[in-house]
Amino acid sequence: MPSRVLTGLFGHETNTFSRLSTTIVEFSDYLLAYGDEIPNAVKGTVIEPNGVEEVAEFYNWELVRSVVAWATPSGRVTRDAWNSCVGHVLRTAEEGGTLDGVLFNLHGAMATDDHDDAEGVFLEELRRIIGPDIPVAITLDLHANVTDKMAQHANIISAYRTYPHVDQIDTVKRAAAILDRAMVGKIKPISHIARRAMLTGLDSGRTTSKTPMTEILSQADQQEAADPNVLLISVQAGFCPADLDQAGPSVVVCGNGRNERYQAIAETFMDFAWETRHFDSNVYLSVDATMARLKELGPSNGPIVIADCSDNPGSGAYGDSTFLLASMLQSNLDNAAFATIFDPKAASQLQKERINARVTLEIGGKTDPKYGPPLRVTGRIVSHTDGSYLARGPRWGGTTQQLGPTAVLRVDGIDIVVASRRLQCTELETFYHTGIDPREKKVLAVKSLHHFRAAYAPIASHILICDSGGLATKDLTKLPYENLRRPIYPLDIP
Ligand SMILES: [Zn+2]
Repeated sequence: MPSRVLTGLFGHETNTFSRLSTTIVEFSDYLLAYGDEIPNAVKGTVIEPNGVEEVAEFYNWELVRSVVAWATPSGRVTRDAWNSCVGHVLRTAEEGGTLDGVLFNLHGAMATDDHDDAEGVFLEELRRIIGPDIPVAITLDLHANVTDKMAQHANIISAYRTYPHVDQIDTVKRAAAILDRAMVGKIKPISHIARRAMLTGLDSGRTTSKTPMTEILSQADQQEAADPNVLLISVQAGFCPADLDQAGPSVVVCGNGRNERYQAIAETFMDFAWETRHFDSNVYLSVDATMARLKELGPSNGPIVIADCSDNPGSGAYGDSTFLLASMLQSNLDNAAFATIFDPKAASQLQKERINARVTLEIGGKTDPKYGPPLRVTGRIVSHTDGSYLARGPRWGGTTQQLGPTAVLRVDGIDIVVASRRLQCTELETFYHTGIDPREKKVLAVKSLHHFRAAYAPIASHILICDSGGLATKDLTKLPYENLRRPIYPLDIP
């Protein structure tokens, strides 16, 4: 008899400081499919649910599919969206017949209107239905804020081991290998969690150079290889713009049974995270410093990529801050492109005009004027698109991204991609689909912190990380934390 495994994806990285609620529409704009629709919805992609389909075939499991739902990071998930997605999973668990295990894909940093620890509550409710004995495996983004409740209810926790995240399928495979043995009673996986008084650390999880994250992951590999009862070590760098008691980095050791030894390993790993907390592989430039550096660099062999990390929708920022764009426009750049400015109203206005029309309008700055006022610009319309394209990069390859109605407005030397939906710019196709060849530009500005590197580092001559002061600023003292445990590094403890 094949093992019967409940599965699904309910993923959101919630910036609790955002004023934009995350409704079911934001999920359906990105990824939302139910039951038997799921295999087709994820086929050919590099995302976790496709990995679940693969492992089910490999281990000869019968999948009981519930829902796959993912939305761009933003504010709290609404009660309706929660009830709709979690309700569907719980009903599937109740009505889906006998279950041998659960393999569920989560992000790990979701907060809702009602729950700060949304994944903890989700797992608790699932346990109420399936009971305490069925092994539950969850996969997480490495920017998860793993809580005690999550570790209590999930036997197996497997977070990505790459940032940019390009190992989603492998993350599923690591969890599945343990779950398969647990379902037939060969092992008894139990999560042991440790954290410290820290909100940020491990170089935010970056793995593109030698960092504390790559060091700790290599220690995890060694520990797992040396001891067959250390089933898996999952390292989470945490997600900072989350005003939650247990936000921040954590280590989960999945041991065979409960044992102080596994807890001690988790604590030792967190000691390392604490000792290396000040390490940061990025230099964050203000807008002025970014423009000065751009001037210094002069003509380069390939585009200079400016990543505005503070207005990155991938961290829940609004994507319509105008600080960087205003400065780029003042600098009289030649042959530059900017992706994207989120402004559905302007995009709709531009869509009504013919190509080549000269237009004056206000763009950006509409969600919260604190992050720059709308910019009044005059330019020529270069292209219109429906904003839909197939991503081909290592981060979201195979998925269809949706910017909604989109237009390119050329203002002086800058091609500005005006989009109707918020989306982190991780893919070259964000430019290509509008007719812009990113390789031919001297300067490319993208809204991203690190994920853009997967597709853009190979074409960039230089990379500048700009903190323009948007909602996802690296200056955490600007965020009004109230529920976070205190004292904590870096807010209270140096
Ligand atoms: Zn992440």
